[in-house]
Amino acid sequence: MPVKRIDKTAMPERNAKQRARDFSEVNEGYRYEHALFEAERCLRCQDPVCVEGCPVRVPIDKFIHRVAARDLAGAAQILRDANPLSSICGRVCPQEMQCEKNCHMGARYRPVAIGHLERFVSDWAQGQPLTTNGQAKKPWRAEKVAIVGSGPSGLVCAGELARLGHPVTVFEALHAPGGVLRYGIPEFRLPNRILDAELDGLRRLGVEFVNNVIIGKTLTLDQLFDEMGYSAVFIGTGAGLPKFMNIPGEGLNGVYSANEFLTRINLMQASSFPHVDTPVEVGKRVAVIGSGNTAMDCVRSSLRMGAEEAMVVYRRSEKEMSARVEEYHHAIEEGVKFLWLNNPVEVMGDDKGWVTGLKCMKMELGAPDDSGRARPVPIKGSEFVIPVDTVVLAIGTTPNPLLTRANKDIRTTKWGGLMVDEGTGETSRRRVYAGGDAVTGAATVILAAGAGKRAATAIHEDLVKEAQPV
Ligand SMILES: Cc1cc2nc3c(=O)[nH]c(=O)nc-3n(C[C@H](O)[C@H](O)[C@H](O)COP(=O)(O)OP(=O)(O)OC[C@H]3O[C@@H](n4cnc5c(N)ncnc54)[C@H](O)[C@@H]3O)c2cc1C
Ligand code: SF4
Repeated sequence: MPVKRIDKTAMPERNAKQRARDFSEVNEGYRYEHALFEAERCLRCQDPVCVEGCPVRVPIDKFIHRVAARDLAGAAQILRDANPLSSICGRVCPQEMQCEKNCHMGARYRPVAIGHLERFVSDWAQGQPLTTNGQAKKPWRAEKVAIVGSGPSGLVCAGELARLGHPVTVFEALHAPGGVLRYGIPEFRLPNRILDAELDGLRRLGVEFVNNVIIGKTLTLDQLFDEMGYSAVFIGTGAGLPKFMNIPGEGLNGVYSANEFLTRINLMQASSFPHVDTPVEVGKRVAVIGSGNTAMDCVRSSLRMGAEEAMVVYRRSEKEMSARVEEYHHAIEEGVKFLWLNNPVEVMGDDKGWVTGLKCMKMELGAPDDSGRARPVPIKGSEFVIPVDTVVLAIGTTPNPLLTRANKDIRTTKWGGLMVDEGTGETSRRRVYAGGDAVTGAATVILAAGAGKRAATAIHEDLVKEAQPV
């Protein structure tokens, strides 16, 4: 059937049966002709409302026009200036809730596939030969900045400050940089080579990475300022502390937090066992509790780790699910089952301490709660047991308190988020800034990137008041 102009150009993707058993990327990316066709669907609106839907206000209309004009270098430059992580955001941003939700084309037809175009242009740019000799740039300012945490907020803050001439060091607690982009989001959605290319770009800008250092433990904030000569610090430590349900049986063998499960698979490469010596035990029947992107990543990873049956258990309905629509559809295609309106009340185990089942209670939806979503109400006497041997809890995370516990002068909210000035990102401690999930709680890559960019501008402006060019 001929493709109609009203249709969004479909993303080429791998066959569901094949891809559900390996970690290679599911989406194959647009080819040139797809991108040209899709760019020509854009109406070139006088009021490009798509831009308003983007948290960092990428000039979407302008980059799409460049694609339509076959000027990919121009399109890539527009994207890079607005969003240094566009190759990543083109893959993982919830566009249907942001730019594409606003797109005028969506009023009558399907919105322009802004995310797919962003990915196409950024991937094209990554494939171009370097225009420099590949050597790291030398900073030209004296004021050094330390970045704590190498997730998207830290990476963007580091890149922007390096572009402005500051010597920048990123301290990361884990043995490889990237934050959730490396240890959380699996390779079938975001290949490491894409992240590594972004990190190489930052190194060429002069950013230095130091892994295996926990600020607040290995080194203190005072040491960074007083002994190591940093003039400012940006905290982008994310929200990596898992929440638990506090139900009986959570301590059984075979119960994982999503963070542990994904870190073992992605960062510790359990998927390559026995070629690496860090396996993860994944049973034949896996239940993942939750309904966000993290839950989808866990359940789809469990299939790839050899589970015969993988299911999502959620106490609300499909309507309240918070995962990206694309991930949900991919999960269905790959054979994941969804058990809506079921609330786990106990993890069952055998006498050796291993999981044997998940006891759930059926729920119905009541009036909206504080979050504005329908409140799940238990149906009396509806308990039943799902036989499973692995349970993964993907019910949310909170900011890690390690750094703030060691620095009482940095004020936090009741739930542990760092309190910052909204405009600058400065915390209650002078010259210590923060952004990303550590401030907002678990959110999105683009919001973290935006916070890193805003803080970089504020840090630079603050530091150049006492300018000392090298
Ligand atoms: C599994 C999963 C899937 C997701 N999928 C999506 C998605 O599809 N789309 C989307 O937009 N968002 C998604 N998100 C959310 C998104 O990844 C986060 O909002 C984003 O990564 C937050 O960035 P950040 O810079 O605040 O911190 P993080 O990415 O959390 O990185 C923080 C880094 O700081 C390090 N660190 C912590 N404490 C210290 C310390 N004291 N010293 C040194 N280093 C420290 C940590 O090791 C970590 O590497 C997902 C999250 C998860 C967990
Ligand atoms: S709203 Fe949609 S059609 Fe209009 S400029 Fe933005 S992407 Fe193009």
